[in-house]
Amino acid sequence: MKAIVVGTGAGGAISARELANKGFEVLILEAGGEFKPFTRRISLVEPLRKLGLTRNEKNFSRFIPAYDSVRSSKDLILFRGMAVGGSTVLACGNMVRAEHGLKEIGLDLTKEFDEVEGLIKISIFPRERWRPMTSNMFESADELGLKPNSTPKAIDSLKCISCGLCEVGCGSGARWDSRRFVADAVNKGAVLKTKSPVKKIIIENGHAKGVIVGSGSRSRRFESDVVVLAAGGIGTPQILKASGLPAEDRLWVDIVLTLGGVSKGANQLNEPPMVWYTKEEDYILSPYINILSHFLHKPWKNVSIQDRVGLMVKLADEEQGTVYADGKVDKEITSHDRSRLDEAIKKAKQVMVGAGVSGPFIEGVHNGGHLGGTVPLRKEDLNDMKPSWLPDGLWVADLSLAPRSQGLPTILLTSALALRVARKIAEVEN
Ligand SMILES: Cc1cc2nc3c(=O)[nH]c(=O)nc-3n(C[C@H](O)[C@H](O)[C@H](O)COP(=O)(O)OP(=O)(O)OC[C@H]3O[C@@H](n4cnc5c(N)ncnc54)[C@H](O)[C@@H]3O)c2cc1C
Repeated sequence: MKAIVVGTGAGGAISARELANKGFEVLILEAGGEFKPFTRRISLVEPLRKLGLTRNEKNFSRFIPAYDSVRSSKDLILFRGMAVGGSTVLACGNMVRAEHGLKEIGLDLTKEFDEVEGLIKISIFPRERWRPMTSNMFESADELGLKPNSTPKAIDSLKCISCGLCEVGCGSGARWDSRRFVADAVNKGAVLKTKSPVKKIIIENGHAKGVIVGSGSRSRRFESDVVVLAAGGIGTPQILKASGLPAEDRLWVDIVLTLGGVSKGANQLNEPPMVWYTKEEDYILSPYINILSHFLHKPWKNVSIQDRVGLMVKLADEEQGTVYADGKVDKEITSHDRSRLDEAIKKAKQVMVGAGVSGPFIEGVHNGGHLGGTVPLRKEDLNDMKPSWLPDGLWVADLSLAPRSQGLPTILLTSALALRVARKIAEVEN
């Protein structure tokens, strides 16, 4: 039985691994190339920043080709990883179970969460290696009754060199990413083709028969019995729509907004981002220097990276957003999102002031990198683990399936969903 898996991020990698383990002949098609982390000293980019040359998000892709960005409205930028490993190669390594919206549809992923956590070594980052200001903010959050906790991480602290640059790729190999599952799949016989952007699904007599890669005279046809879309919350609906199939206008992104303050010599970059977090119903707060805002955001320009202190708000946003067949995205920050962000930012400021961080307190760039909700599962889909409108042989195994925004790390959720889907595929298609 031949299966094509599209994408190698949190969903695609574990699906390919599972299908290869179950004896499928797996072809993995990845739009990006092999991933290379940014290992130069960040100070080398500072002169460009001072000249204002790093203010366009598209410039990030010059330094790190895997960094793909889409501006979905005037004040919201969406980021994703387009390379082997997908967005997991840019992740902070946070590993938290995010389950919003699952109970409502009757989906219990406990077994899959347990299993994925067993495959990824998870631990907390030793407190003695937190920066002093990060510890102060933890104490301050605790005093405010916010109940902060160490963040479970997929980072081997013995290998970690505390460069603080997880989000531009881990150069020391300390942080897990889904390339490890891709390697497992390849060891089991799967074939990985990089630089192979899938454009369309081939559908014959209501059955997915393969995919078209590339366009024009360079397009190629790959045939299979099963197609598994795991191109992420933007890539998957884009392919569906380009193939004449629907996707839902329910894109959510978990909006990130970092409050920047100042503390001379805080050197917050000398630790992994987000070593602790506080959890409210729809957002978290977590220490985070936010290199994106450091380079992109003009209002942050007068503070050096050594003196910058950041506290992140990650908000579960309203599920409203459209992805088009050409990859364009429309997604606004709604008035409800804004009022929730305002409340969270007020809390963040209290934590920072309590820790001795000085102003000016300036908000960073609104951005989102948890892209989901465009092929949401409903109660009635759970038996099959796919929406009934998908043609036979066509499956989705990425964060698109998650019906609700999380305001929490989403790799575990994506992997658990994809593992459940891959098991279903093996059960019904083999
Ligand atoms: C900067 C950043 C930091 C993050 N940090 C964390 C964290 O610390 N912890 C956490 O839990 N989550 C984190 N996330 C979120 C997490 O990485 C994603 O939610 C998760 O990877 C989603 O998995 P996915 O499979 O849906 O998509 P992705 O991981 O994005 O994978 C999609 C894959 O499809 C490929 N693709 C896209 N289009 C096509 C096409 N047409 N043809 C072929 N291939 C295609 C992409 O190249 C990619 O490999 C972070 C995200 C970002 C952007």
